[in-house]
Amino acid sequence: MKKQITPEQDNKRASRFTFIGFRILVIAMLFITNILIARADDRDKIAPEDRIENWKGKTVLIFTPHPDDDTFECGGIMSILTKNGNKVVLVIYTNDNKGSLDLDMTSERLARIRRVEEEEACKSLGVLKENIHWLGYGDGDLEYADPQRLRGEASRFIKMFRPDAIFSIDPGEDHERWHKTDHRMAAFITQDAFIASEWHLYYPQHYLDEKLIPFRVPLAFYYYTIASNYQVDITSVIDQKIEASAKHVSQFSPSLDKYSPDMSKETYQKIDSEFKKMDKDGDRYIERFRRMVNP
Ligand SMILES: [Zn+2]
Repeated sequence: MKKQITPEQDNKRASRFTFIGFRILVIAMLFITNILIARADDRDKIAPEDRIENWKGKTVLIFTPHPDDDTFECGGIMSILTKNGNKVVLVIYTNDNKGSLDLDMTSERLARIRRVEEEEACKSLGVLKENIHWLGYGDGDLEYADPQRLRGEASRFIKMFRPDAIFSIDPGEDHERWHKTDHRMAAFITQDAFIASEWHLYYPQHYLDEKLIPFRVPLAFYYYTIASNYQVDITSVIDQKIEASAKHVSQFSPSLDKYSPDMSKETYQKIDSEFKKMDKDGDRYIERFRRMVNP
């Protein structure tokens, strides 16, 4: 039987809908304001010489959980930076030794494959092999590693290279950002390492044994973000980014399912067209980041 609704109930219901409607309006306004602030920050507040894509002779340190997140998320800016004569250094948390569907694959073999693929990808982006540092944790195991030790390892690299900027996964701005395993640990541990690298009484052995002076990270660019406030036009290097991405042969089918070191023309073309669809502003290819001073 259909329930009768009294005029009083109807009024209550209407006011509840009005309230929900108001909340949606407020959320929408906040969202639009956020976009406007982000755009203003991106386009108006940063002097051209301070924009990272115009840097020359600087050092940039990139933390990545796996040997491919850097290429897929930052490959364009990596290529621009090396072309402009900057030093790009990579710290890779894991050896990525589990992501294969090939039942004949072993972890040891996969780790070796992934290392070579990353070195080849980096070569396409102008990053030297000696600037790639592997921490060697097992794929999917980063969250089960000793966090205190991990933070110390990350902060040691920060003190060693004293970078003008760091790229890392976005841990979230006002709220924690959810990421898949390894990504979430990499996001938080790198952020914690910023603090540890600033104060000499965190890991005092870095100074006592190696004379590494504390260092305050001046600038961070977070990738895998949902709150981007900075975009880089990578149109001039999109082909290098795609070439580098395609070096990760074992990450794409059919090699993902049954490993073969060779990539067919068709697979390359598929990667090319997928990457070109990914992030665009009009007819320009872009990469987006959350940029933060004194992170
Ligand atoms: Zn990853």
